[in-house]
Parts: sequence; structure tokens; C-alpha cells
Amino acid sequence: MPKFTPKFISRFRFNCWKPLVAALALDGFLFLTVFVGFRLLAQNPTSNHTFMATQDATNPSSNEMRVDSTVDFRVVSDEAWRNRLNAEEYRVLRRQGTERPYTGIYEQFWEAGTYVCKGCGAELFRSETKFDAGCGWPSFYEGIASERIREIKDYSHGMIRIEVRCAQCDGHLGHVFDDGPKPTGLRYCINSVSLGFKKAEQ
Ligand SMILES: [Zn+2]
Repeated sequence: MPKFTPKFISRFRFNCWKPLVAALALDGFLFLTVFVGFRLLAQNPTSNHTFMATQDATNPSSNEMRVDSTVDFRVVSDEAWRNRLNAEEYRVLRRQGTERPYTGIYEQFWEAGTYVCKGCGAELFRSETKFDAGCGWPSFYEGIASERIREIKDYSHGMIRIEVRCAQCDGHLGHVFDDGPKPTGLRYCINSVSLGFKKAEQ
């Protein structure tokens, strides 16, 4: 039977409180890890589950464009892009994201008009060059002008592809492949979310 001397009590305190403090610290650490982890996941621009497209799928031809001709799109800051674009547009245009196939508003959209860059309003594709590639993204066999589309070799996801970007604002549009129809044999596979649409005047 131990004697409850001050020495015993002080040893008791030391031996029992140390593991308790350690357990509390571990608990706090685990909580922080999970909390920070979830916060990072929520902010991850490449996570498909975090952001939903906000374009109006019921009326693609009314897809509003905010074009300001006074802006120099080569020097727009990342923060300004975040403010200018919605989360899905930012993820695709500024972070080389890809919208899920068969979900974009222009995938099955055949009105006559001009497709413009959703980032800066540059005219990129004509509806006459759009075709149904069956791949899940709007596809064109030709751009309006080669100098408006920048091509970059893309080695991501274990493939060698040609990424296409808007030459004016450097926004990611999609990729170009050489399995398209005549007359060019090209297939510009473009994210709907990277595009706006201007209806042809009657
Ligand atoms: Zn652009």
C-alpha cells in the first residue's frame, strides 16, 4: 500500500498526466490534419466533385459574355481571373481542367453563330465547322483563324496531346487531334465551359 507522501503524489501526477497530455495532443493533431485536409480538398481546383458548372444549360445561346475591350488579357492576374470567371470556368480555362464528357451545354447544340472564348470574348470557331464527333465535347474541324489559337504540346495523363489555348488570354480550350473530318482532318475537342456563343444575325 503506497503512502500518500508529497513525493508519491508528485510522481503520480507526472506518470498519469504525461500520457493524457500526449493523447490530447495527438487528438488535436489528428483533428487539425482532417480539418486542413478537407479544407485543401474543397479548394482543389482539379477536384471534379467540388465545383458544378453554372452555365444555363436550358438556354445556351443566351450564355452571357462579359467582354471589356480595354482589358489587356495577357496581364490579368490570377485573382482577377478568379473574380471574373465562375469556379468551373476558372478550373478549365486557367487550370487546364476538363469538363465531364456529355455534360457541356454546347455538346449537342447546333444553332448558327460564332463561338467565342469565355475568358476574353475572342472569336474562335464558326458553327459551320462544328460536327458531332460523339466524344462528349463540342468539336470543330477548323478555327476561325490560326493565329487566334495557340498550340502547346501536353504530356499530362501519360499521353502526348496538343493542347489548344486562346491566343489572346491564354485560356485553356481543349485539345486538337488529327482524326477529324474533311477538309482539314482535324478535330478541335473543346470544353463548352471555355466558350460563349454569339447567335448569327438573321
Ligand atoms: Zn480568350
